[in-house]
Amino acid sequence: MSVIPIYNCFHPILKKKTTLITDIDDDLVKFANDMFDTMYNADGIGLAANQVGKSVSLLVLDTNMIKQDKPGQKIAMINPEILSYSDEEVDYQEGCLSIPKFYEDVSRPSVIDVLYWDLDGNEHRITCDDILARVSQHEIDHLNGILFYERLSPIKRTLSKGKLRKIEKGDYEHNYPMIMPNGTFIESND
Ligand code: ZN
Repeated sequence: MSVIPIYNCFHPILKKKTTLITDIDDDLVKFANDMFDTMYNADGIGLAANQVGKSVSLLVLDTNMIKQDKPGQKIAMINPEILSYSDEEVDYQEGCLSIPKFYEDVSRPSVIDVLYWDLDGNEHRITCDDILARVSQHEIDHLNGILFYERLSPIKRTLSKGKLRKIEKGDYEHNYPMIMPNGTFIESND
């Protein structure tokens, strides 16, 4: 098991769009498995590659990390792209491993169609609803350099400024290894 430090949301790598993956080799498969380890270690349900310092279009998710009345899905997506969105939107409280202990309701389309490649290089087109639609949209946003607080209403964003400033300064507790906005490594302080 290999746990990788998670980058604080104010580190510049998280504002950069990731690059497409052209070659699936052993290193990439190992990296994806390390991402799963890192996500489970932090009790997350999704993680994007740039959150652990690699600016490539890869995300992992496991919706079993949230209690549901149906079996969850564990997926690694290479170069995911959202092909279509439902008109209907739903509110759901989101959090993010790069923004510790910050939770806010975000409105997003309830159903999406996603195209991606798996670690064996097979192409998939899937329809995502419920929590899978939510996590996929949150993580694909990461791959495009978008953080979930940027999707809050202007009022909510204004009200969140104080909390976000504290996170930018590293003034919070976390129980998994992190890289601060200035590049400093902190094992954990919880
Ligand atoms: Zn996130």
